Amino acid sequence: MELLKSVYEKVCKQNPHEGEFLQAVEEVLESLEVVAKYHPEWIENGIFERIVEPERQIMFRITWVDDQGKVQVNRGYRVQFNSAIGPYKGGLRFHPSVTLSVIKFLGFEQTFKNSLTGLPIGGGKGGSDFDPKNKSNHEIMRFCQNFMLELQRHIGENTDVPAGDIGVGGREIGYLYGMYKKIQNVNTGVLTGKGLEFGGSLGRKEATGYGLCYFMDEYLKDYQKTFKNMSVVISGSGNVAIYAAEKVTELGGKVVAMSDSQGVIYDINGVDLSLIKQLKEVERKRISEYKEKYPNAIYYENSKDIWKVKCDIALPCATQNELDLESAVTLISNGCFAVGEGANMPTTPEAVKYFIKNNILYAPGKAANAGGVATSALEMTQNSQRFSWSFEEVNQRLKEIMKNIYINVSKTAEEYNVPGNMVVGANVAGFIKVAKAMDAQGII
Ligand code: NDP
Repeated sequence: MELLKSVYEKVCKQNPHEGEFLQAVEEVLESLEVVAKYHPEWIENGIFERIVEPERQIMFRITWVDDQGKVQVNRGYRVQFNSAIGPYKGGLRFHPSVTLSVIKFLGFEQTFKNSLTGLPIGGGKGGSDFDPKNKSNHEIMRFCQNFMLELQRHIGENTDVPAGDIGVGGREIGYLYGMYKKIQNVNTGVLTGKGLEFGGSLGRKEATGYGLCYFMDEYLKDYQKTFKNMSVVISGSGNVAIYAAEKVTELGGKVVAMSDSQGVIYDINGVDLSLIKQLKEVERKRISEYKEKYPNAIYYENSKDIWKVKCDIALPCATQNELDLESAVTLISNGCFAVGEGANMPTTPEAVKYFIKNNILYAPGKAANAGGVATSALEMTQNSQRFSWSFEEVNQRLKEIMKNIYINVSKTAEEYNVPGNMVVGANVAGFIKVAKAMDAQGII
């Protein structure tokens, strides 16, 4: 990094303990060197310095009472990162690992991802260190209601529209929405990922996983390959992983391994996805229970062991930094030739560099997992129209959006003399639209 070195140094100085955020910023600024070279006016107008600083960071206390009558205190966050191209948009994450750094990295990435969708949405993210595991339904509901008691004053259908992420699915969005409506006395599309009965969009649940596969399908085709007969491993068994697995299977691939935060299931015959759905979506159990029905499947107790499973294509769909250099080396030595990120920043910087150096078809999450937020934006459109589209219509639009993102990203990589480098392609293409919008709106 040369031209943007001082920008990065300032971010490091101001946020010394925010590892995830610094990691995301460094990766993006490295890619943007080529842009800075051709746009000195953006350096002069402080675009780079502004884009790494969130417009607003909200932190708040959430107090609730558990089933034993004990008072519990958690910390809530909403980082409204960038509104240059539209209302802040990005999910809420409930997980004990949530910190300001995690939410900032996610909000930062979201800004570029949302720009890539071609839709008018800015970037934001939020959540809490609340752990939904082993909580009763009532505890989840009380937590969500208390979370919304504070969040409601900061969001709105034209201001900031949160959605789900890790630990926040349809159930949580329902409780959050109910409380928002009760306080504000309005029925608006202030959250996406809602139930179909109250303004949700068909196809939203499937969108991130399906979108990832549509993106990868385009990418593979460019290299005369498809998912057909490919062996695929997918980390995670949550919303993104399950629907990625569904689409991979539909496209002719075989998903041989999936995981959760405790371990990995490897089924050489191809995983039984309906059982995984039952265990994870309905019963909220551990993936290890898969072995009860399929005793021949192998269970590994370490989630990271999924990268030791031989495959052609790997789709990390669980969480950040889950795929490190050692795993990348193992994947490639076992014959893996393509990696598509369903999760946000699942691959460590060293592993990304290794993939690129070894000409692996590597699709960064900002581009490859943008289908979720794109469909959330379609949900917002339907809410404004007070109308619902069919599943086929939403799915068709999603497919087109993912194809356009692929074309935009790969063309941008060529234009900037790094053909095939999807990291630079995605960062630059996402950045340019936001930078132009910021520049046009003056120094604010
Ligand atoms: P879910 O909460 O539905 O699922 C997360 C899955 O990842 C679970 O199976 C969980 O296991 C597993 N997991 C969590 N932490 C770890 C870990 N440290 N090691 C291994 N597995 C782990 O979340 P989503 O599917 O919604 O999100 C997954 C990723 O995709 C995140 O990075 C998210 O930011 C990203 N994403 C999500 C979008 C969406 O629309 N939902 C959109 C774009 C990106 P367990 O069941 O044990 O908790």
